[in-house]
Parts: sequence; structure tokens; C-alpha cells
Amino acid sequence: MALHGPLKTSIATAWMAGARLLRVRPALTILYYHAVPDHLRDGFARQMDILAAETDVVFADFEGDVGGDRPMVAITFDDAFTSVARNAVPILAERRLPATVFAPSGWLGQKAGWAMESLHDQAETVMSADQLRAIQSPLLRIGSHSIDHVQMAAVGPEEAARQAAVSRSALEEVCGQKVDEFAFPYGSLNDAAVQAVHGAGYRRAYSVMPERIGSGHAAILRGRTAVEPSDTERLFRLKMHGAFCWMPLASRLKHALRA
Ligand SMILES: [Zn+2]
Repeated sequence: MALHGPLKTSIATAWMAGARLLRVRPALTILYYHAVPDHLRDGFARQMDILAAETDVVFADFEGDVGGDRPMVAITFDDAFTSVARNAVPILAERRLPATVFAPSGWLGQKAGWAMESLHDQAETVMSADQLRAIQSPLLRIGSHSIDHVQMAAVGPEEAARQAAVSRSALEEVCGQKVDEFAFPYGSLNDAAVQAVHGAGYRRAYSVMPERIGSGHAAILRGRTAVEPSDTERLFRLKMHGAFCWMPLASRLKHALRA
């Protein structure tokens, strides 16, 4: 479900107003980007300034108490594009913000050739093994985005298990560190795919459905909110406050009504 359109933004705005009124406790919201192209570098920097000033930025697998005064946000990037290494990583490092980059292990160093989630990303190249090693730091983790950037729910449980296990060992070989977080390409997942990822030794897996993550969240699967460096400040603030967390409910309702 794409995160744009005036209707969704209006619902999110109403949700925010309601949450303020009802004093809903802050939660952890996990954001995910794809590319950060050169012409949007400044926009990305402004978004990171907002996060640094107004939220506590943590890793996406954060398990502590999230009920403090400030909202918590985690930053992730799918596809490990070179534009992220070039533009986003220095901006994150300057502000000491943690982030996780999910790489498709079979595409390292190649022009991204899979069916794209965003048209902007068609000119992008995936980081090479050397580039992945270079961006890795205590504040920048590498996770898996499968081998081939496949739809994990469509390939069947055996192939899903292979995609999870082989990408994990390949990325561990590249990074020299444990890789135990997985982001589902296209957000394509079902129970069997989540089981396959769990069985391959991952501790956490991430979807593309917005979710407010509260304290004591123990499930392997966590939802994330799509964000673009080109988002307006107003839209970005709605996203960082988790104001799109009603979307999975709307999606389930839509399916139920169709059925
Ligand atoms: Zn992807």
C-alpha cells in the first residue's frame, strides 16, 4: 500500500490530532528509505536534523522501554544503493545517528535490475562488497534483503529458506560480522516466509506496513513506514510520529470487505 495521496495524509493528520488529545504514549516508529540521490541530499539532511532534535533515534531492533517523553525512531535503508553510501551515510555519521542497511547479496556491485518499488531508483547501483564493508560501523549495521530481491511469499518455503540462509552467510562473509536482521523485498511475506527467515537464524524481520512499536514488542516481525528524502516536512513529521499506523487495519478491512 503506497504511502501517498491526500486522503491518507488527511487521515494521518486526524490520527495525530486524536493521539495528542488522548495523550497516546510515544512509540517506536521504524522508517525505511530506498535511494538518497544527490539532488535530495539536502532534503535528507533536513529530515535527519528534525529526527536528531525531536526524537530519540535507535536501531530498528530496539527492545527497551519506548514510553519516554520523546518519540523513538529507527532509520533503515532497503537495497543498499551507492547513493546511500555517498549521501546518507556521511549525514548520519555527522549527527551520530544509528541506521541499518539491508542488502540483496546477489546484486552487490551491480546496477539494480529487479522490478523497482520506485521509478526513481532505476538508475541506482547496489553497493559492492568493499563499499558495504566501508560503511559498516558501530552505528551502521548491515542486514539481508534476500539474495535476488525476490518476493518471499511467492517463491515457496524452500526457496524462501534458501534466500534467507544463503544471503545471510554471504553478507556475514562480506562484513565479518553477524547478520541477523532481514527486510522483506517488496514487503512480500506470509507465515511460511516469516518462518523461513526465523529458521535461517534471523532475530528480526521487517515488513513495509506502518506499525507503532511499544515496549516489550517480542515478535520477530516489525512494521516500517516508507519515507522519501523528497517528503515535505509536514508529511515527514506525520510519518516519524507513527501517524500512518492505522494503515494495516485499513488494509485488512479492505480485504475483508472484498471477501
Ligand atoms: Zn528492496
